[in-house]
Amino acid sequence: MKPSVLFDLSGSVAIVTGGARGLGKIIALALADAGADVVIADILTSLAEDVVKEIEARGNRALGVKLDVTSVNDVQEMVEKVSNHFGRIDILINNAGIQCISAAEDFALEDWNRVVNINLSGVFLCTQAVGKIMITQKKGKIINISSLFGTIGSPHGAAAYNSSKGGVINLTKSLAVEWGKYNINVNAIAPGIIETELTRKRLEDKEYLDLWIDRTPLERIGKPEDLSGAVIYLSSGASDFVTGHTIMIDGGYSVQ
Ligand code: NAP
Repeated sequence: MKPSVLFDLSGSVAIVTGGARGLGKIIALALADAGADVVIADILTSLAEDVVKEIEARGNRALGVKLDVTSVNDVQEMVEKVSNHFGRIDILINNAGIQCISAAEDFALEDWNRVVNINLSGVFLCTQAVGKIMITQKKGKIINISSLFGTIGSPHGAAAYNSSKGGVINLTKSLAVEWGKYNINVNAIAPGIIETELTRKRLEDKEYLDLWIDRTPLERIGKPEDLSGAVIYLSSGASDFVTGHTIMIDGGYSVQ
């Protein structure tokens, strides 16, 4: 099959959680460029509507949905709205996530729970609800956005974040094994540090930035667009025999 056909997402419907800005927005635009119709599901509804307009301007169908990934009601309503509007769900990108920095010895349980609820339980809730549709379709692609820090520790007070992202990698493997029989591929992407709202403040610290660049074989930090190729690959027929895998997009940070 020609690469242009193998990676073509025309006729597919994709949901991107946290798609209003940052990595989610770039992922949504990449999916649209590959031919998909895209649902932008985010807490930030006005920014989500801006992304919807950008996608429609490209000639694709798009829908904005208000979603807090920790709310069972929101998740259920999202699945109903998308199913009613598009009639199917082919791709789910679990991208919404937050960071909270505090020394482990002082980490407030409330903050720990907020991070784990959004970054891990939120991924499970969305995957469970969308997975039910994909099971009836006998087809689906689920891509979880984990992190390099789901595979290693760090000294920056990110124990909750790192633990939640490690959980996402094993959730990916577990669901890949459980849902393989339904022809559902479940994979993850683990980015290194990428410049977005989430990281902008820390990257203003030149010492921190230089340390990252020093330790990264490709000698730079990531751009949101660095994720696009892996997202299209894992969303398309090109990855039909790949499941339970995590693609590191970290400039080689993790291999040394
Ligand atoms: P971002 O710029 O902060 O964007 C995250 C988006 O998710 C925001 O629109 C945010 O809305 C939304 N969101 C937060 N909580 C939500 C909830 N409960 N329900 C629905 N939407 C919610 O972050 P990003 O850098 O693009 O990160 C996207 C994903 O990549 C995250 O899972 C992050 O952990 C992961 N990641 C990022 C990096 C990096 O270096 N940037 C590296 C590795 C992994 P609000 O602004 O209202 O919170």
